[in-house]
Amino acid sequence: MKTLKIAIQKSGRLNEKSVELLKNCGLSFENYKSSLISTVSNFPLEILFLRDDDIPEYVQDGIADLGIVGENVISETEVEVSFLQLLGFGKCTLKLAVQNNTEIETLQDLEGKAIATSYPVILKKFLDKNQIDAEIRTISGSVEISPGLGLSDAIFDIVSTGGTLKSNGLKPFADVMSSQAILIGRKGEEDNPLIQELIQRIQSVLRAKETKYVVLNAAAENVEQIIKLLPGVKSPTIVPLAEEGWVAIHTVIPERDFWEKITLLKAAGAQGIVVMPIEKIIL
Ligand code: ATP
Ligand code: ZN
Repeated sequence: MKTLKIAIQKSGRLNEKSVELLKNCGLSFENYKSSLISTVSNFPLEILFLRDDDIPEYVQDGIADLGIVGENVISETEVEVSFLQLLGFGKCTLKLAVQNNTEIETLQDLEGKAIATSYPVILKKFLDKNQIDAEIRTISGSVEISPGLGLSDAIFDIVSTGGTLKSNGLKPFADVMSSQAILIGRKGEEDNPLIQELIQRIQSVLRAKETKYVVLNAAAENVEQIIKLLPGVKSPTIVPLAEEGWVAIHTVIPERDFWEKITLLKAAGAQGIVVMPIEKIIL
């Protein structure tokens, strides 16, 4: 079968998490900072390390079969690719921001104003949708300094914590798009069995991240009440302990309501609770 190629970011915010995800999928490869391509030794796959902006087009044109890139970059490059799997990292929001002392209060106030951005395509779509005619000034970096220099009245950029905005005398004004990393593929190749296999592996890693493996001890009379609190993949495993009248209960608990569940379990008589990370969940 033909060897697949997956394009990931060479260096930057998505690089480390992309490499980690592929390694957690059981793929073995060298990750030299200097190389542009790496061969996976235990799966017919090659990894191309590229600038993130180039990834969508490489996948669209078939130079790579798959890619990991931010949704923001895909929207900006307007390519035809298939969206295979959201990956839960690289989360950020693209926002409009204005100076703290501005007169701009509503979206309509942007009419006729200049907005600096590295994302002209996404911004144009948003402005058109809201029927606002503003001037888009495309710059490639340090967008946040442009209002202070008198180069624009507002900016449109990625904001994660808002710290950079603050230190430049800016405040967020409107959220336009939220983004995270996504696995994309070439259109028409979705049914390739190797691609399906990789998607399955990625999903099993993502599922495991959302859950913890929990082992706890309980007196037999408390078991019924404790089980009621446990969702589990199926029903929990119950193992007798050496001490008469006691059992160990094994189960998985979703990360999101983890602490709440632990409090309830303790109140129901659970003791010696051990929590472990899960590597993969294969359904
Ligand atoms: P490259 O050299 O590959 O072109 P870059 O400088 O364009 O890198 P990075 O800053 O590494 O890109 O960001 C890559 C992606 O990470 C962004 O496109 C976005 O999807 C995501 N991201 C998550 N949080 C942030 C953030 N706080 N600022 C910028 N990008 C973020
Ligand atoms: Zn880039």
